[in-house]
Amino acid sequence: MSDGWQDKAGVIHVHSRYSDGRGTVEAIARAAEQAGAEFLILTDHDTLAPLRDGKEGWYGRTLLLVGVEVSPDDGNHYLGIGIHKEVSRDAPPAEYIRVIADQGGLGFIAHPDYPPQEQYPLKRFPWHDWSVTGYTGMEIWTYTVDWLTGVTSVWRLVKALMSPLATADGPFPETLSRWDALLKEGWAKGRRVVGIGSQDAHGILYSYRRMFRAVRTHILIAGDWRREVEKDKALVLEALGAGRAFVANDLLQDATGFRFWAERGSRHTPMGGVLAVGDGVWLKARAPVPCRLILRTPDGVLAEAEGETLTHRVTGPGVYRVEARLPYKGAWRPWVFTNPVYLR
Ligand SMILES: [Zn+2]
Ligand SMILES: [Zn+2]
Repeated sequence: MSDGWQDKAGVIHVHSRYSDGRGTVEAIARAAEQAGAEFLILTDHDTLAPLRDGKEGWYGRTLLLVGVEVSPDDGNHYLGIGIHKEVSRDAPPAEYIRVIADQGGLGFIAHPDYPPQEQYPLKRFPWHDWSVTGYTGMEIWTYTVDWLTGVTSVWRLVKALMSPLATADGPFPETLSRWDALLKEGWAKGRRVVGIGSQDAHGILYSYRRMFRAVRTHILIAGDWRREVEKDKALVLEALGAGRAFVANDLLQDATGFRFWAERGSRHTPMGGVLAVGDGVWLKARAPVPCRLILRTPDGVLAEAEGETLTHRVTGPGVYRVEARLPYKGAWRPWVFTNPVYLR
């Protein structure tokens, strides 16, 4: 649609041979391009060596950026993006959150929840320290963790290996509740909590290429890529920082073109934006294919619609976000999760 924004689907949280991933940076970039990902954020464990080695840049139609995953042994993993110096994983989370922010970087809490799974117990790396502030946001859907926790039997494992969709059940309910609570609390203090979708891809269970169509983060940028690494990197960081982004399982259906915005008179504010509620605001969502659209606040569902559009008028300030589901094999499967618009 011609609202001035272009939707760029990207892959966030990928490991290469610089830590415990299977692929080289070049092979990962190629897989991303083949999967139609327009940007990719590499986040190897505790190292920015790929940045120093000059790996950041355009590879064909994919912009590859280098961040880091701060990875203590027992959890509290944290993505640092747009930074130039490593941070110590031995420091308390509040410290690495601050050091990343001081470098002008963005920081996202990685895979905050690891629901226990009794059949095949995994080593779990949840986020423990919820006293922290100062982070940009959090992963609301981490494909690999979702996938792994869905493998509860040999049969489920076989199914999962045959189809990358089989055990991709969507964000954990506890993670979405947590996000809602943080959104509500954050907004009362004038802070956003940006939700991103991530892969935590290692190229082990699935090829990178196959995974890179699953849970992605779409950003909205003004106009098209400038085709200059520094400028395009700034566009990605700005959109992510502002929450002008949504999470989609593009393996189910490419969500490119999905929109959620607020309208008051001639003012249009996209997801992530802030608008004064005045005497009322129209909240509108549009999907590229018919689906079930759900408008929510942190307190629950406000409106639902089936089709390609949802329109709802609100008169109160607050945090409003949209989810979309698609029918797949007889069930409504989680598909899109937008960042909120904030009405003040
Ligand atoms: Zn991790
Ligand atoms: Zn990881």
